[in-house]
Amino acid sequence: AAKAAGRATVRTFTSEMLTRIQERVDLEARLRAAMEGQRGLFVFFQPITDLASGRITAREALVRWFDPPRGWIPSSEFVPVAEEAGLIDRLGQFVLGRACLEAAGWTDGARVAVNVSAAQLGRGTLLPAVSRALKAAALPADRLEVEITETALLLNGAQALAELRLLREMGVRVALDDFGTGYSSLAHLRSFPFDKIKIDGSFVRDALQRPECAAVVRAVAELGRRLGVTTVAEGVETPAHLECARAEGCTEVQGYLLGRPLPSPKDQAAVDALSSPVGTPPDRPVRPAATEEV
Ligand code: C2E
Ligand code: MG
Ligand code: MG
Ligand code: MG
Repeated sequence: AAKAAGRATVRTFTSEMLTRIQERVDLEARLRAAMEGQRGLFVFFQPITDLASGRITAREALVRWFDPPRGWIPSSEFVPVAEEAGLIDRLGQFVLGRACLEAAGWTDGARVAVNVSAAQLGRGTLLPAVSRALKAAALPADRLEVEITETALLLNGAQALAELRLLREMGVRVALDDFGTGYSSLAHLRSFPFDKIKIDGSFVRDALQRPECAAVVRAVAELGRRLGVTTVAEGVETPAHLECARAEGCTEVQGYLLGRPLPSPKDQAAVDALSSPVGTPPDRPVRPAATEEV
């Protein structure tokens, strides 16, 4: 009986694994096809607001993918697939291209912030991609910001830092993303002159219940002030979160309260057409459009 049970367990485990591998292979193939046909891939933009003036200083470009069989796939699911499948350079170029073109049309002069993943750093491909995107959009380099996570620095070390220095010499700003969630954060601040620190959303959201999270927000804001670096509180969802960010001394805020990631007006109709029967895009309140007025 034990032997039979054991075998059954092994068989279940194996078929589950096979299913997962198959799903992953399918997802990768569909992502590849979407990228080749440039179908279902979009860039959404979310405002980043200066607390003192209330002005939008930047908008973060966030990639979105509508995969017909499943609907909107979270970027936390397909960006890692693109990285592992060797598709991240192409995906990165797509986002950079769209982001720069979009920003060139903004009348408020806000910057556009583009996420760059670990797999895009330290390989000599980022600088040419950035230059091409800026040139194609005729966007000045100082209107572009790249967001790097600590993990990306950890994985790529000196080569990554060298590339970031060159970007900065071009006039591109460099932000440290998801600050506080990676390793040896303070060492990174010493190794590179970041223009901006983005405090991970978990800290502000937990600050109301947990004093140690508020203390982290305050300490990073103070550090930013001393270093002359902008500090952004991410994940601001409620007026209480906003008050916390202000009280602890952050200079800028980003989150659903101030604005959800939204498609370019040029893409709005295409996004609406996709969303109606299958589901809402990520970050949108799940409510019928008629009641969505604010
Ligand atoms: P991130 O760079 O830290 O981006 C912020 C994430 O927080 C976004 O999730 C955004 O939609 C979400 N967010 C914004 N405001 C709020 C809020 O008030 N509450 C909550 N709970 N979340 C909020 P998204 O778009 O799903 O992206 C997840 C991560 O995927 C990003 O984290 C970034 O690391 C990566 N990513 C997104 N777009 C790109 C891209 O174009 N290229 C690369 N390499 N990575 C990307
Ligand atoms: Mg980011
Ligand atoms: Mg972040
Ligand atoms: Mg993040």
